[in-house]
Amino acid sequence: MDCVDFVELVTDFLEGAMPQDDERRFIEHLAVCPGCERYLDQYRQTIATTGELTPDHISPDARRHLLTAFRDWQRQ
Ligand SMILES: [Zn+2]
Repeated sequence: MDCVDFVELVTDFLEGAMPQDDERRFIEHLAVCPGCERYLDQYRQTIATTGELTPDHISPDARRHLLTAFRDWQRQ
């Protein structure tokens, strides 16, 4: 799994809607990629801050902010 796949699967992961094989690869990537670990943290914090129960309800602005931050981390 690479970072692009990871980002696309974050929503499924947080909803528990991910097949077991994908979930294993997701967690494996999380363990070796600090950028994605931070992305997931940020994503969870955004959900907590907005009070939304599922990431589906994250506003387009918040999503764009997260993706921009994620690209900055990858550049480091
Ligand atoms: Zn990654």
